[in-house]
Amino acid sequence: MARAVKDKELVNTRLASNYGGWVYCDSCNENIGYLCYSTYDRLELKYKCNCGSIGSILLDFEDSKTGQDCSDELVIIKNRFCCPNDNEPLITILDKKVANYEMKITCKSCGAIYKKVK
Ligand SMILES: [Zn+2]
Ligand SMILES: [Zn+2]
Repeated sequence: MARAVKDKELVNTRLASNYGGWVYCDSCNENIGYLCYSTYDRLELKYKCNCGSIGSILLDFEDSKTGQDCSDELVIIKNRFCCPNDNEPLITILDKKVANYEMKITCKSCGAIYKKVK
């Protein structure tokens, strides 16, 4: 079922689909990651691509819950950051494609808000 997007701001970044799929840097067209469609409630991502371009994504939905800050680390399962509470796959960031990034992502299933900085 399609979700109703509330806030959507993409800077120097393209998504393969409306609110998920492969994530591309708009300057060099490299894919820098993959966003799972249905498992997150809110995403804030800011990154510096290896090409030097700084991009960002802000996405949430009409039915997103507020979530609770959480200090646990995301777990990596098959290259994908997953929620440690329920193993929901959330997002892949291709480490080798970005110089650095800062991310906040809310798991839809349990409402935990994870932070990750590289
Ligand atoms: Zn780039
Ligand atoms: Zn979760």
